[in-house]
Amino acid sequence: MSTVRYSIILPVFNEQDNLLKLHQRLTGAIDSITTDYEMIFIDDCSNDNSYEILKALNEQDLRVKIIKFTKNCGHQIAITCGLDFAEGDAAIIMDADLQDPPEVIPKFIEKHEQGYEIVYAIREKREGETFFKKVTAFFFYRIMKVFTNIEMPLDAGDFRLIDRKVIDSLKSMQERNKFLRGLIVWTGYSQ
Ligand code: UDP
Ligand code: MG
Repeated sequence: MSTVRYSIILPVFNEQDNLLKLHQRLTGAIDSITTDYEMIFIDDCSNDNSYEILKALNEQDLRVKIIKFTKNCGHQIAITCGLDFAEGDAAIIMDADLQDPPEVIPKFIEKHEQGYEIVYAIREKREGETFFKKVTAFFFYRIMKVFTNIEMPLDAGDFRLIDRKVIDSLKSMQERNKFLRGLIVWTGYSQ
């Protein structure tokens, strides 16, 4: 049996300027619905003050949990590790750089309560990125769609809610280099 309803999974690499604001917006967005959640920050060996800021947040809010990597392992491994420690009935995966708006989370929860096991957000626009990044991302999703036979949503990042069933399925997979966006859809749960 799980001990919290929702686990928010936040990979962090050099996000010192965003963490306080993120915590404030995140708790502001979710607290009106439920206080029964944990925030798991995975510090992917940042070389700025991210870890110190997370420790200070943990002192004022015990729902803040921290995993600190000894070396930089990358975004997907950080998320995978967060899911391994998540205790919730569902996990919400989001970036820690405020590119994924926390205010969308209540809508994820609403869809989860309607019975969907995977709920994701689609980017309508992408601010603060270079032209090169936007163009390569555009083609990335479309080329993936042509070459794979899974229904991977176009222009959705990792920002999503996944039910405990999906978390457990991901945990049972032996892949070492997980491409989570693909694997989550591949599990076949309703999205
Ligand atoms: N991140 C991480 N390890 C890394 C690089 C990034 O944990 O080696 C985190 C980063 O702090 C952010 C998320 O993963 O919360 C997405 O990273 P980024 O913003 O660089 O990805 P993009 O927006 O370009 O997809
Ligand atoms: Mg980003």
